[in-house]
This record gives sequence, C-alpha cells and structure tokens, in this order.
Amino acid sequence: MGMTRQIAVEDRKQSIPTTMQAAVYRGVNDVRLEIVPVPKIGAGELLVKVHTCGICGTDLKKIATGSHSAPRIFGHEISGIVAAVGEGVNEFAARDRVVVFHHIPCGECYYCRHKTFAQCPTYKKVGCTAGFEPSGGGFAEYVRVMDWIVKRGTVRIPDQISFEQACFVEPVNTCMKGIATLHPEHSETILVIGQGPIGIVLSVLAQRRGATVITSDLYPERLTISKSFGLELQIDASRSDAVKRTRELTEGRGADAVILAVGGNGLIRSAMDATRPGGRVLLFAQTVSGEATFDPAAVCVDEKTLLGSYSASVELQEESVRFVMNHDMDLERLISHRFPLANSLEALNLAAHPKPESMKIVIQPGSVWEGSSA
Ligand SMILES: [Zn+2]
Ligand SMILES: [Zn+2]
Repeated sequence: MGMTRQIAVEDRKQSIPTTMQAAVYRGVNDVRLEIVPVPKIGAGELLVKVHTCGICGTDLKKIATGSHSAPRIFGHEISGIVAAVGEGVNEFAARDRVVVFHHIPCGECYYCRHKTFAQCPTYKKVGCTAGFEPSGGGFAEYVRVMDWIVKRGTVRIPDQISFEQACFVEPVNTCMKGIATLHPEHSETILVIGQGPIGIVLSVLAQRRGATVITSDLYPERLTISKSFGLELQIDASRSDAVKRTRELTEGRGADAVILAVGGNGLIRSAMDATRPGGRVLLFAQTVSGEATFDPAAVCVDEKTLLGSYSASVELQEESVRFVMNHDMDLERLISHRFPLANSLEALNLAAHPKPESMKIVIQPGSVWEGSSA
C-alpha cells in the first residue's frame, strides 16, 4: 500500500500550500483541528511532509495533564517525505523519504563529551515544529526540521521499508534503552507485564538478548498478536494469577526480572511479587507522579531492585535505526488503527481510552496523498 501511494506522489510535481491542517493542543484535554500556516524553513533546514506519525503515551500524558503550555502541535514519531530543502542542505533533496528525530544533542559541548546527553542544551531544545512552541509537530501536514536535526537526526528510509515501519524508530529506541537498563543475562527469565505494542517490542528485544520471556496481559486479543511475534510463553491474566503462574514456571523462585509495561501504579506490587529475591523490576510506563504501594522489605530484606527507564537514548540511535530499517521485526503489524489527520481527535481519544483490540494507533496525514493534488 505504501509503495503505490509513494509512486503516485512522486510522479506529481510538489507544490507547497501556504496553510495546512493540524491538531492543535489548546489546553488540558482540548485539542482542536485547525488551519495553521505551513512552517517556513531557513538555511540548513528541511520541510517534511508528514506521512505517518505514531501516537505516543507521552503525547497523551501531556494533553491530559497540561504539563506544557498551549498552544502546541504534538507528535514526534514522524516519517514522511522531504517537501523542500533550505539553502546549504546537500545531504537531502525533495522527495527523499525520511524519519526525523525531535531531540538530538550537539555532540560537542561539555555534557556531550561526558556522555550525559540529556543535559546538553541543544538536546533540551525540540528540533521539529509545525508551528507555535516546538513540540514535534507530527500531528500536522508539514513539519519544519531544524538544522541540527537535519545534520544528525534525519534518517533516510530504504525503498523497501514503509512509512509505517519507519515511524517506529523512536519507540524502539525507548525500548532498547529500557532493555539496556535491565541488562538481561542469557540464562535469565523475564516476565513482561502488558502486551500492548511497547510491551511486545520490549519482549522481543529481551528474547533477542537470549532471555526466556514470559508475557502476560488481561486481553486475549493482545496475547494472540504477541504469540505471532514468537512469544510463546504466555499468561492470560484474565484467567490465571500472573504471580503464581510465574513462580510455577521458575521452580518457585519468581522471574529474574520483571518489566512493567502497563501504566498506572496498580501492578507495581504484583511486579515486585513476581520477581525472585535479588531480582529486579523495571518500571517502563509509570510516567505520572503520585504515590504507590510496595513492600519495603521486598527491597531491603529480599534485595529486589526497582529500576526505571524513560525516553530515548542517542547512543542507541543507530542500533534502533538498523533494527527498524532492516525489518528485524515486522513493526507495521503492531498498528491496529490508522486515522487520517482530519480524524485525529478520534485517534487521540481512542489512544487515551484503548480497547482490547487497540495496539499502536497512528495519524496519517499522508493517507490523502493518493488521488489528491496536495
Ligand atoms: Zn514517543
Ligand atoms: Zn551537547
């Protein structure tokens, strides 16, 4: 599907309109479909026409909590086609298919030299925008890609790879970072609680490291998809007690490590209980601050370690690009819903209130490219 559309678009001369549609965040739980100016680009910059943009849990959190000032245009899992290049850009040309990162460190400052990239002043700036305060901008027809992102954070998509597959580079990177933090050993058994798209990617990555992976979810629909990715050892948490079952599968010990890939704090206790003494628990989806209950003696006496991981790592950028662009995993199959930009409010609403059958949800401004003069 991606290929025919792409050819249809490439055959036509691209003309860039002056206005475009965008899903604009106007305040807490208030996103509106608006007509905004197409961003202007300067020297060293790119204008990218967005084909697909994944909806990320962090977008939903920002919309629901009002953690960021309004107005903004969110969306940072962006794949698309170069529509225009600024003066002095030689690495890319119009019609190149690309993925763009939204945070990239400078590589030269004190913090970069000491490998604390997240403290780099350049890294802290968002390098893609569709207007207003830069916030990714993928929920719009066009994004402006700033010069440092053009130099170090724009990646060409190979011909045989779809825009849908390509938009997983950033989420895969966040999962790779989580797995690096957990550092699974070859002989270990790891329980991954939650088999949404991120839980499945985490499970596959842990399995590729040689760990034995047990997955669990309340929804049989998700377990079916998870199984199709080679994750055979499953617990249907709607029918059996995941903690008990994990112990049964590990000679009564519990898993060497547990990854919690379900939001909220309700399962932290279970995750700790399912871990063996001396084991570790990775909180991967606990992005909202608040208070949670766990047994302090599980940490002190049983020596269980609580770990966390959030966002992407620039050090894993190349590895995540390779994984996605080599098609090491058929990530497109994790997409359950595709919405045109015009229906982005519906898309965000579904993502915020997932159904058993919902997996990755993407907004596709590029879904109207075929047969239109855009
Ligand atoms: Zn994301
Ligand atoms: Zn730096």
